[in-house]
Amino acid sequence: MAYRRANSYLPIPARIIEVIVENSQIRTFVLAFVDEEYNRNFTHSPGQFMMVSVPHRGEAPISISSTPSRPGVIHLSVRRAGWLTTAMYELAAGAVIGLRGPFGTSFPLEQLQGRDLLFVAGGIGLAPLRSVINFRLDQPDASGKVTVLYGSRTPADIAFRTDLDAWQNHPAVTCLLTVDESQPGWTGPVGVVTTLLDQIELDIPRTVALLCGPPLMIRFVLAKLSRAGFDSRDIITTLERHMKCGLGVCGHCHMDDKLICVDGPVFSHAQLLEMEVAELQIDRL
Ligand SMILES: Cc1cc2nc3c(=O)[nH]c(=O)nc-3n(C[C@H](O)[C@H](O)[C@H](O)COP(=O)(O)OP(=O)(O)OC[C@H]3O[C@@H](n4cnc5c(N)ncnc54)[C@H](O)[C@@H]3O)c2cc1C
Repeated sequence: MAYRRANSYLPIPARIIEVIVENSQIRTFVLAFVDEEYNRNFTHSPGQFMMVSVPHRGEAPISISSTPSRPGVIHLSVRRAGWLTTAMYELAAGAVIGLRGPFGTSFPLEQLQGRDLLFVAGGIGLAPLRSVINFRLDQPDASGKVTVLYGSRTPADIAFRTDLDAWQNHPAVTCLLTVDESQPGWTGPVGVVTTLLDQIELDIPRTVALLCGPPLMIRFVLAKLSRAGFDSRDIITTLERHMKCGLGVCGHCHMDDKLICVDGPVFSHAQLLEMEVAELQIDRL
């Protein structure tokens, strides 16, 4: 159960402990709430997000990229996109920002138990998946294979290298990387992340697939997994919409009859089919 203050609109001060440079556009901020008791009691589930604010620069939702199995700090991995994230990008250790949350639904941990897991991510999309991958790897009694497929624009754009290295060396994990465009020194595969699906063997009824990345990537991966025979309830993804409150009050992030902040951001493909999400329609591919 998350430990919250009575006023969910009030940002809680959190200090940047460390800034990890992931690539030229992405930084991972390691944060701890200034109030030590609040920090000790804070919990989240993989897939949830925080509303992050910098005074005078606004507020935006950012997925928690750390796992609740390593408590005491919160990791937020941020891609420089606009007004707020550019301001964050310039912050160093010691700076204090505001956090509200955690908000939103989490990955369905019970459904994942005992199953093989296939993670497919593009770019910053690995952020929320990193939380659930490390959560799974931290479970001493976890069974089932873990496969991570990660696509990046160029080798220089590869983010989360420390995690990718750890997963590539983990006996229970198959972790493959690809880039859209090669650069000198790159000896790995070149091509979109869907091409990696041809290089792995899956026991489809045993497997749950978790996807996160740009809408076009999600669309192609959804199409390929559906054609391969995945049950639509066993494909899980996250949706992004601009949002204001994060609490289901303002209605800013509505889609169909759903609010992404409280009904999501995690949805199964079965739910997306009901919602007819335009950018993820696979019938025209
Ligand atoms: C649940 C969730 C989790 C997320 N997790 C992460 C994460 O882990 N890391 C991360 O880097 N990002 C994440 N995002 C995306 C992030 O919240 C957005 O990129 C956010 O807009 C950044 O705020 P900003 O002020 O820096 O940029 P903005 O000023 O909001 O601009 C960002 C982009 O959106 C465009 N834009 C601005 N306003 C609108 C509008 N009203 N409608 C359409 N387009 C608009 C801008 O032109 C620009 O291209 C997440 C989003 C959601 C919903």
